Amino acid sequence: MTGTGSVLADRLAQGTVLGAEGYVFELERRGYVKAGAYVPEAVVDFPDAVTELHREFLRAGADVMVALTYYAHRGKLRQVGRESELEAMNRQAVRLARQVAAEGGALVAGNVCNTWVYNPHDAATADLVRAMYAEQLGWAADEGVDFVIAETNDYLGEALIALEVSQELGLPAMVTLATTGPAETWDGYDYVEACKILADHGAAIVGLNCDRGPATMLPLIARIREQVGCAVAAQPVPYRTTEASPTMESLRAEGVNRVFPLALDPFSCTRFEMAEFAVAARDLGVNYVGICCGAGPHHVRAMAEALGRTVPASKYSPSMDLHPVLGTAASRQDRAVLDAWNVTR
Ligand SMILES: [Zn+2]
Repeated sequence: MTGTGSVLADRLAQGTVLGAEGYVFELERRGYVKAGAYVPEAVVDFPDAVTELHREFLRAGADVMVALTYYAHRGKLRQVGRESELEAMNRQAVRLARQVAAEGGALVAGNVCNTWVYNPHDAATADLVRAMYAEQLGWAADEGVDFVIAETNDYLGEALIALEVSQELGLPAMVTLATTGPAETWDGYDYVEACKILADHGAAIVGLNCDRGPATMLPLIARIREQVGCAVAAQPVPYRTTEASPTMESLRAEGVNRVFPLALDPFSCTRFEMAEFAVAARDLGVNYVGICCGAGPHHVRAMAEALGRTVPASKYSPSMDLHPVLGTAASRQDRAVLDAWNVTR
């Protein structure tokens, strides 16, 4: 149920919750998701690939396994000619997440996102969105999830529908906004105000995910943290966004026709930058600290360790002292080798 007494509330009470997302982006890089549509067809076509990525994030310290139902809604499946597999895909996604979560005591989240159908000036679209969320989250509730993550919401109106559907199913909801604009949702609500409204409507967690990198999400999340009473989430993309290009969509590189979404690599944050973000977000009082599109398990492990944890994948965390040139044995190397590696000893 919502509020106190839920598994989610209990976990939040224990301290910072570490989230890991960006499944669609990562599985696209691995050859299991088609860019453009970004429908998580791998859930039914290559379930082992999805399970593996869940497990990598779990081993890296993620506290939540998010069912890969991002864009697995009726509108998107129709677009790729797989509408008949909608229920199977949604149920399977939750089963895969549950299976891996059980290996490490993680929570399981059902997931819905922006639909690209909602239009605040057309009430009929709200009904369409509600029907899509109701079937997706109905199957998620049936398969067993601890809470819902409704994310990358461009419209407050659409986010509120997801929240209502979650509440009707008795599931706590984390509702996060996309922030492609400088200050407002696409239906004209200041991001901070939109989070306050979501909190007032009973969201368990409100905040931001995707679009912005750590540098441009932190100032905004700080203002949200000051203004809302409930738990707050921040899940940036691991890209070096700037004041001039505050979102990954707005990043530009010389000689590159389009950076987003397929040529973002040169802007990638290192694991150290994401570790710094995790600490900064926690110190601001952010309760759910995570990462979105572009995430790799190495980022998540660095974030977990920066938050003071030792996780299963820590067994293989770097020990640069063992490196033949950069480590303790460097003194045995020729001067020329050290010079070539730019090592000063
Ligand atoms: Zn994302």
